[in-house]
Formats: sequence, structure tokens, C-alpha cells
Amino acid sequence: MRIGVLGAGQLGRMLALAGYPLANTFVFYDLSGSPSVGLGEIIIDREQIYLDDFLSRVDRVTYEFEHLPVAVAERIAAVKPVHPTPRSLQICQNREAEKTLFGELGIPTPEWRMAESADSLRAAAESLGCPVVAKSNTEGYDGKGQAVLRSPEEAIQAWANIGHKRLMVEKFVEFSRELSVIAVRGEDGQVAVYPMAENVHHEGILRYSIAPAPGLSPDITAEAKRYIHTLLNELNYVGVLTLELFDTAEGLVANEMAPRVHNSGHWTIEGAVTSQFENHIRAVSGQPLGDTSPRGVSCMVNIIGEHGQTRRILELPYAHLHLYGKAERPGRKLGHVNILADNYEELVWRVRNCAEFLPGSPEFSSSLTQGLKSGMADPTYRL
Ligand code: AMP
Repeated sequence: MRIGVLGAGQLGRMLALAGYPLANTFVFYDLSGSPSVGLGEIIIDREQIYLDDFLSRVDRVTYEFEHLPVAVAERIAAVKPVHPTPRSLQICQNREAEKTLFGELGIPTPEWRMAESADSLRAAAESLGCPVVAKSNTEGYDGKGQAVLRSPEEAIQAWANIGHKRLMVEKFVEFSRELSVIAVRGEDGQVAVYPMAENVHHEGILRYSIAPAPGLSPDITAEAKRYIHTLLNELNYVGVLTLELFDTAEGLVANEMAPRVHNSGHWTIEGAVTSQFENHIRAVSGQPLGDTSPRGVSCMVNIIGEHGQTRRILELPYAHLHLYGKAERPGRKLGHVNILADNYEELVWRVRNCAEFLPGSPEFSSSLTQGLKSGMADPTYRL
């Protein structure tokens, strides 16, 4: 099948790498003018004049980037099947629509208000009770366009710093850790869910994902599965969907979702029987879904800003290096390393070893290291 991908970054690259063995071909349609995919045919079209040409070369269309105009997705949907649906894209681009949908489907969220001025931001902070997190309603990613307000008096400064006309203001959630659940739905409605990952961020950027997330109770796992199933069915979704969650004393609280393969699912390339990329391609091309079971325990370590000592990483027998062919720049995602182990103790040791070769990597601190530090010999910490 000829698959068209909107966007041409590393996610598109990994989709193609997973799709070629199944005899798919790929054409990338890039609106940004700076594709980094590095393989397949790329159509760069800032003025959107080559869309028909792109569509004539593909059978199905998907995307690897959700900040593209919904109108483009709708234009495409009138001509060729687009997965996921333009409605999913529209909801994921707009925090208000997203949190409203979560509420309608019974998925818990932080308490929230909308603000359209510094005054209404202040009023929202007062009524919710500080601290609160203010976020641009649209166009936010990797923690950009956000501010934490410790008191309502900070509203004027925060409003000016964020510089957007419409903000979502959320009550600050006291979470013990961040989790994500990734699932895939096929054209026939079949759903497969990956084990949840525990995600460690540093300066707003994902650094480590551990999967399966250690120490998950069956109740929490069932809760996450229920939420993602409900979303997939409601959106009549085909492909991979990611839901980011906070783990709190009261249970899971949803943060946001992404209508695509996700950085917190990169561990699945070697760490699961079928990767999130292959499963997305299988779903989009109408094929049966693959097994989402883990192979041992994994940690994905992002390579940010600088490549580091890649030769040394390649010498580690348990590390799988993935480079995206991008130039170094502060804060830029250049690649990742998937580390596999038979148990979490061994995993922590291996991740620390690998991080030595990645300058600027924050110390590997997670529920796992905290658990190990305090000598918590929880049997669920071993497979
Ligand atoms: P987001 O862009 O919504 O994913 O937010 C980026 C990061 O900010 C999240 O990964 C959290 O670490 C943090 N964050 C976002 N919303 C909240 C919240 N309501 N309470 C506490 N931390 C938050």
C-alpha cells in the first residue's frame, strides 16, 4: 500500500522504517519546509499547491504531527481515507475541546477554567486556588506556552509571558509520577493496548520512559485501559492514540492526548513484540494488529541537543541506538537509546551506564530509583 504521511520528522521516519518490511511505500507531505525524515519521497509544500499531486500518489493518509491545519486534513478526507479522523486532530489541537471530551466520557482531569485576559487569568487562579498551570489553549507542546502561578498576583506577568489570547488554567496536580498509555485500534474496531510507561521529564522535555511502568496495581491498569478504549471508540479512531496521565493518590488524572505514535512509545521498537510504529501502519493499512506484549523491561533514553559518545553506546550489548539524522541544537530530539533488561534492578544499572555517554542527561531518577534507594524490595519490581 502507498501511505501518505503528513509531516516529515523522526516519527514519520520510524513509521516508514516499520512499514517498508510489510511492502508499504511512503510519501511525506511537509508544510514546514524543514523535513528531517531522510527517506522516502518528500513533497515540500508551504503554499499547499501540491496537495492534489501528493494525493494522486497515495492510497491512505496518516500524520505524524498534530499541529497541521484541520482544513487540510478535511480536504484530504474528502478524497482519500485519513487515519486518525480529522475530528481527532481538531480535538487534540485544542485543550478546551480535549478536556471537555474527557469530562463527557468520565475521564478525570484537573479542575480547569478558560481565561481570555490577565484579569480573567487572575480570577481563575483565585477560584481554583494556587498553584495553577496556565497553558495556551492551542499550539502548545513540550511544556511551551505555559506558566505555573504560585499566587493570583502573578497573573499579569504570566499573561504577558505566554502571549496567547486564550488560556486554559488548570489546578496544579500533586502527582507521584507521569504515565502514558498507548493503544491502537484497527479498521475493524479491534483494540490492542501497550503496557503503560512511566515518563521522566526534564525542563519540559521527555528524557526517560520506563515500560512496563513499575509497581502498577491491576486497578490502575484497568482504569487506563478503560479510558483509552472509551476515547478510541468515541472518536471512531484508526491508528495509535496516546493518553498522558498523572498518577495521584486519588487515581489517574488525564493530562492530554496525542493522535499519533508518541515519544513515550519508542521503547516498543525492541521492547515489545510489535512496535507502536508497525501497529500504526498495520491499522492504517487495514491489516490485523500485532501483539503489544513487552519483551522484558525497557527504558527509552532520549538523546537531546548533542549526540554524545555514540560509539561507546554502540559498545553496550544491551543498548539499541536510534539516530534521526538531525543536526545538533539545544533542546532538539536527535535520537534515542532503547535499553532492555530482565529485571528493573539491572535496567537501572544499564540506564545509568548509558547516560554517562550522553552529556547533559539529567540523573536517572524515577519511582524505580526512589524505590530501590529506599530498599523497597517490591516483587512487582521484577518480572
Ligand atoms: P502539557 O503540555 O500539558 O503536557 O504539560 C507539560 C508538563 O507540565 C507535563 O508533562 C507536566 O509535567 C506539567 N503539567 C502540566 N499540567 C499540569 C498540572 N495541571 N499540574 C501539574 N503539572 C502539570
